[in-house]
Amino acid sequence: MLRKKPRRTLLHSIKAFGFLSGLLWLMVLFSAPPVFAQPIRQVLILNSYNYSAQWTYSITRGVEETLLAHDPSTKIMVEFMDTKKHVDPEYYKILADQFRIKYGRMKLDAVITSDDNAVNFALKYRTSLFHDAPIIFCGVNNHNLPTDTLFTNITGIFEAPDIAGSLNAALSLDQKIETFYIVIDETTSGKSIRADEERLVNLYKGRIGLVWLQGLSMGELEEKLSSLPEQSAVLFVTFNRDRLGQTFTFHEILKRIHAVCQRPIYGLFDFYLGNGIVGGMLTSGKYQGIMAAELAIRIMNGENPDSIPVVLQKANRYMFDFSEMRRFGYIQENLPPESIVINAPRPIYETNKYELMIVVVLIVFLSVVIVILLASIRARKNAEIELEQLNSYQETLIEQRTEELTERSKELEIANYELKQLGDLKTAVLNTVSHDLRTPLTSVLGFCKIIDRDFKRFFLPLCEGVDELEGKGGRIRKNLSIIEEEGERLTRLINDFLDLSKIESGHMVWNNTLIDATELLKQVEPVLHGYFPDSRVSLNIDIGHGLPRIVADRDRLFQVFNNLVGNAAKFTEEGMVSVVADTTEEGWLKVVISDTGVGIPPDVVNRIFEKFYQVCQDESATEISRGSGMGLAISKRIIEHYGGQIFASSTVDKGSSFTFTIPST
Ligand code: ADP
Repeated sequence: MLRKKPRRTLLHSIKAFGFLSGLLWLMVLFSAPPVFAQPIRQVLILNSYNYSAQWTYSITRGVEETLLAHDPSTKIMVEFMDTKKHVDPEYYKILADQFRIKYGRMKLDAVITSDDNAVNFALKYRTSLFHDAPIIFCGVNNHNLPTDTLFTNITGIFEAPDIAGSLNAALSLDQKIETFYIVIDETTSGKSIRADEERLVNLYKGRIGLVWLQGLSMGELEEKLSSLPEQSAVLFVTFNRDRLGQTFTFHEILKRIHAVCQRPIYGLFDFYLGNGIVGGMLTSGKYQGIMAAELAIRIMNGENPDSIPVVLQKANRYMFDFSEMRRFGYIQENLPPESIVINAPRPIYETNKYELMIVVVLIVFLSVVIVILLASIRARKNAEIELEQLNSYQETLIEQRTEELTERSKELEIANYELKQLGDLKTAVLNTVSHDLRTPLTSVLGFCKIIDRDFKRFFLPLCEGVDELEGKGGRIRKNLSIIEEEGERLTRLINDFLDLSKIESGHMVWNNTLIDATELLKQVEPVLHGYFPDSRVSLNIDIGHGLPRIVADRDRLFQVFNNLVGNAAKFTEEGMVSVVADTTEEGWLKVVISDTGVGIPPDVVNRIFEKFYQVCQDESATEISRGSGMGLAISKRIIEHYGGQIFASSTVDKGSSFTFTIPST
């Protein structure tokens, strides 16, 4: 069964809105506390005595430090009434007038007084001078402050010396003390402290003897203190005036006592600390000031002064002088808890902070350096190990390689030996070929000539008149001339082949002589003319003047001329072949052999000096143009053997030009 959703009423919405807005306000209130301008607090410190008194100074410092630590904006005014020197009632009146002018219109938040005179003055004039500001007193001896209606809106700290506290502190440091000699004068404060005698005697009855050194002159006191027995100690209360009426300052008296007394001196006031007393439960000006300031802060924060109980002895502290403790061999462990120790040797980390920091930094730095060095030593050792491994690996590798090389060397030696054998074999073959091939060829050519001569002489005359025989006879002679030509060609081939082989194998014998190039040209001229039997191609030889002298094998140079001019004749059907001999700028012999022949295609002109290379001949090539392809190769090797150069240039169907140079002597 479906339930009907209840409808939201207007009332519900208003309630929800109210709740939400309330929540929002609360959030705003708590999340961002309102910033109210804090009023500057004004506090007057009214001291009974002069600033130069250690006690007053300590109180003032304690108050100032505490107030400013709590609120640095606090405005603090300090007055020193100096009532130890000035006791005239007129003086008090003048002071009151002065303060009225200074503070009469000022709203003070608190008046902190030190010592009795100040609090009494403040109580008397508070309405007219200080607008009834709350009073916080400290350092007050007289517990009998006025209890009338004036004593309202006031609290503070009494200065209550704690003799028992000091005696107990002495006993905790030195359990052997049997007697305390209590130095005290006849002043009002001395008398009031002595009034506590009965309670003290009862407190230490049977345990410790208390001897009161009161009513003595300074001399008597010194004498007494200079001869105190062992296991005794002094409690110095106060001795500002002696029996003879002599007065002494705090420091003066203690200095004199300390000079004569061999036993430890304890005290009741902190201004003696550091001037010769071991310490004790000391009434401290500074803590009086601190506590007074703390009370003032509480009051300024809204607490009712009358609801704060007056403090009695809480401002006293166990305080000791380390240098005096050390003098008597006392140790810090025996001090009462929460003792304050002055002149204690500061821990080394405090006294030598910077030196220590430098040492720490140095140690850290050196540690880092050591770590880095260790790491580098380790890395170096690893590297050395790796290097050693690498070396041994390389040594092994070198040994392997050496073995391999030795093997290869042996193989090469064998191969060299075999090559030499082959070379020898080749030489033997060349010799055999040159001898065994040329000898029968010479015989063939010789017998061909003999047969032709005999045939011509004896048989041809018989054929005269018989046409058929004459024809046969002519053919026989033609065949004989073919055999002769082929034989000669074969001889040339064999000669070329042998020459090339000898040059390449280094077996060629070079019969070098000093040759005059002009003479050489003149010698070769008739031979070259032999290549041009008919008048279709003419040979023109131009021998320049003053041709150089060269050192070469005359026959080999002839061979070069024959090859080049022979080729020119071979590949020139008509026109001219010229031989021009000249001298280069360097003084070398230069010979250019040009023809007007078929020419050489440009793509192969550089290949014609290769062994066995011949430009593809066409069908119409004559028998005579067929060569071995070795002539130019031999010529190139001869020229280069003498340090010269040979090259060709050519234009197809126009002619070719071959140039060679040979260095002069
Ligand atoms: P071959 O005995 O065949 O002449 P060569 O080494 O002397 O051998 O010449 C190589 C080739 O160079 C020849 O076959 C020819 O084709 C070409 N040749 C050499 N001289 C000439 C020339 N003067 N004119 C045209 N072609 C030439």
